[in-house]
Amino acid sequence: MDKENVVVKMNKQSAEKRIGNFDEVALGYSEEQAIAEASRCLQCKKAFCVKGCPVEIDIPGFIKKIKEKDFSGAILKIKEKNSLPAICGRVCPQENQCEKECILEKKNKGINIGGLERFVADWEMKGKNKQSLKPNIKKVVPEEGVLSAVAVVGGGPAGLTCAADLVKLGYKVKIFEALHQAGGVLVYGIPEFRLPKAIVQTEVEYIQHLGVELENNQIIGKTYTLDDLFQQGYKAIFLGIGAGLPRFMNIPGENLNGVYSANEFLTRANLMKAYRFPEYATPIKRGKKVAVIGGGNVAMDSARVALRLGAENVYIVYRRSMDEMPARKEEIENAQEEGIEMKFLTVPVRILSKKEGWVSSMECLEVKLGEPDESGRRRPLPIENSEFELEVDEVIVAVGTKANPLFLSTVPDLKMNKWGYIVTDEKTGKTSKEKVWAGGDIVTGSATVIEAMGAGKQAAQSIDEYLKAGD
Ligand SMILES: Cc1cc2nc3c(=O)[nH]c(=O)nc-3n(C[C@H](O)[C@H](O)[C@H](O)COP(=O)(O)OP(=O)(O)OC[C@H]3O[C@@H](n4cnc5c(N)ncnc54)[C@H](O)[C@@H]3O)c2cc1C
Repeated sequence: MDKENVVVKMNKQSAEKRIGNFDEVALGYSEEQAIAEASRCLQCKKAFCVKGCPVEIDIPGFIKKIKEKDFSGAILKIKEKNSLPAICGRVCPQENQCEKECILEKKNKGINIGGLERFVADWEMKGKNKQSLKPNIKKVVPEEGVLSAVAVVGGGPAGLTCAADLVKLGYKVKIFEALHQAGGVLVYGIPEFRLPKAIVQTEVEYIQHLGVELENNQIIGKTYTLDDLFQQGYKAIFLGIGAGLPRFMNIPGENLNGVYSANEFLTRANLMKAYRFPEYATPIKRGKKVAVIGGGNVAMDSARVALRLGAENVYIVYRRSMDEMPARKEEIENAQEEGIEMKFLTVPVRILSKKEGWVSSMECLEVKLGEPDESGRRRPLPIENSEFELEVDEVIVAVGTKANPLFLSTVPDLKMNKWGYIVTDEKTGKTSKEKVWAGGDIVTGSATVIEAMGAGKQAAQSIDEYLKAGD
């Protein structure tokens, strides 16, 4: 086989070892591995990979610098467009974006762009490069006063990116975050073994270092309304509040003890560090037989957390087949390697209790796939008399989330669609409310980190144009 076309695999913790800890599974590239992988890049003149990236990183440009061992140059090139590279290098679904467009992917030998991005971001975090931490920011508006101040509501990937881009353009920017820590899903949803919280913290600090002010524990809609923020002098507001309200299945037994929404389960484990009990006081049920309902990243994360909390059997119960699973392929493979059992073409009918209101089992039904539904995916059809009972003592519901009405109900003049997401102009992120932009999951529904970042970028550009043009 042509040696140059062999993808350099990233090392990872063995499945036996990693199920006993919360440490990162993928271990990253060594310098030699990164250079070898970068050397395979064809440096296409017409780089399709860049088109596949929602924030349009100069991918061949940064890969060339890795090949030349100029890691500092590589990270600077990435940071021209992306302020969160260590995060994106770990959790972006590159296989559906930049890597999918790589010419070598036609031979199944696409460049591991995410792995290379992660390598240079980690190289920088190890303190080997001070240069990119002190970027040359051009101040185009006065530092004093609030004339050009912009408020960003929500410190997830959309808000962080919008804030970083605006501050780089010279605006005075403040993020208001409801939780005690910024990062959004990156800190409360995605587990430590996929995305260490120290990495998120470092990238949030980088954005603060750029000049963005961050105030945690501020629930906009409660602490301040949008109108309060305008009265405080903010000239524009970006809403990046995510869509974290859990959906349930509305089946009997869903309110039994031992049933969690994935959102609550993961927040307890990640943000509240329940897995480090008693060092952290957060309680969490450590089920022995756990069913996780759903087939996305959230379901995979919940299942793998349950396993690490000591479960003996963890089942993913999913109503379609492996082919329709929305989770990242890599994470499905990791889950299977770790011993998570997939129950495809299965839907829960009710959750049962034999003892004091605690879950003891779940009744399920087998289904087959029919014609595609409005989502384009094949509709599951029940198979008669196929009911069976799955013995479980914990159920985690990971069937999606929706917009939280807590804030949105305080802004009646903000136009929303039938699913409760904010309606924006596709090209600018501008909402129906004067001087208010929005982006990320609160506009699209649950999507991806990089898409939320792309929306933050787009809004920052539009806010800049608006503020430069004057009211
Ligand atoms: C468990 C899990 C795993 C995932 N895995 C992946 C993955 O591997 N790859 C990937 O690309 N995507 C993944 N996603 C999806 C991805 O994380 C989201 O699409 C992305 O985080 C959306 O970014 P956002 O900024 O729009 O919202 P969020 O990340 O939800 O951030 C919104 C922020 O706004 C704050 N907020 C909300 N309301 C208010 C208010 N009223 N006032 C102030 N602040 C407020 C919230 O506290 C939060 O910090 C995953 C999601 C989950 C839940």
